[in-house]
Amino acid sequence: MKRTKTAMIEIDGAKGEGGGQILRSALTLSLMTNRHFRILNIRARRSKPGLRPQHLTSVNAAASVGQAQVEGACLGSREIEFRPSSIHPGSYCFEIPTAGSTSLVLQTVFLPLSSADSPSEIEITGGTHVPWSPCFHYLESNWLPAMGLQGFRADLGLELAGFYPQGGGRIRALVQPLKKRIAPLRRNQRGDLLRVRGLSTSSNLPESIAQRQRDRAVKRLGDLGCPVEIEIRTLPSPGKGTLLLLQAEFESGQACYFGLGARGRPAERVADEAADALHTFLGGGGVVDEYLADQLLLPLAFAGGDSEFRTSKVTQHLLTNAEVIRAFGAAEIEIRGELDQSGVVEIRPRGNR
Ligand code: ATP
Repeated sequence: MKRTKTAMIEIDGAKGEGGGQILRSALTLSLMTNRHFRILNIRARRSKPGLRPQHLTSVNAAASVGQAQVEGACLGSREIEFRPSSIHPGSYCFEIPTAGSTSLVLQTVFLPLSSADSPSEIEITGGTHVPWSPCFHYLESNWLPAMGLQGFRADLGLELAGFYPQGGGRIRALVQPLKKRIAPLRRNQRGDLLRVRGLSTSSNLPESIAQRQRDRAVKRLGDLGCPVEIEIRTLPSPGKGTLLLLQAEFESGQACYFGLGARGRPAERVADEAADALHTFLGGGGVVDEYLADQLLLPLAFAGGDSEFRTSKVTQHLLTNAEVIRAFGAAEIEIRGELDQSGVVEIRPRGNR
């Protein structure tokens, strides 16, 4: 990743994690800094490289919001060039024709739209609860409250759940303009565990599945010595699916993990996936879970002060996202800790220097 003489930023999509996040982060950074970029080797480390429907929708969404000129934006493309002009808040409807993640499309445009001077309303269709991405309820219970502490203001709504492989879900977001500069985050101690809240859902399947998921999770968390409350809900959806989500609240910090149902996967295994991940988090010293860690990096790169937090795990996503942010010159980022171990992340936005 290097800057060329023409000030066009060149990103190598094969670096580090080599997935879709490099592209999405570059889109957000381009809109935030008003700098144009070219990305090569898009998703080079994935089994089907190039733009998949979710990534193409992210590119088109960012282009609409930033009134950008784009070259190379078609399915399968491994290279695009993106020239933003200015951010236009407004009413948007973005469609992913597969179960690609609506959350990731929303995150791509959230920061730029929050920086605009009037509200925006966004509707996104596609997958809302799909593996390897933040599901809608992760956004609602973990990401949005964390963003709220940074000063962001938004309402999120789930109209239809979209599960893999069918998709067909629909979310809405009302994004309000930031009232003041993004607040930095300083969190190195999480304090005591106060409670675990959870959600067990089913769609177009017997409710007994959601009950079994909840019973298993309650059993697995029985020795934590804090209240565990898991709500059961039926989510409207065009397809079949289940979710078991656990949100741990500490005196100062939070962590959220979930499991998703799949054909042939017993309800107990779905609950175990979330409970195992939460137990791993509790066994370490993390204050922010490893997924939120990489998702907070971008907003904190534009904060009005320096941030420092302890993540439960230094991931490739975190390291790669930091590289993309550095390539745009948005912030200095230092990550102390070994890959896959707990670590401390320091972010010093350049805008403050
Ligand atoms: P790919 O290129 O692999 O198809 P992608 O475009 O879907 O990937 P990635 O580059 O893998 O995206 O980025 C996935 C994002 O989803 C990251 O920000 C990661 O933190 C987030 N994520 C993945 N799993 C979870 C999870 N269980 N909970 C919350 N967030 C998650």
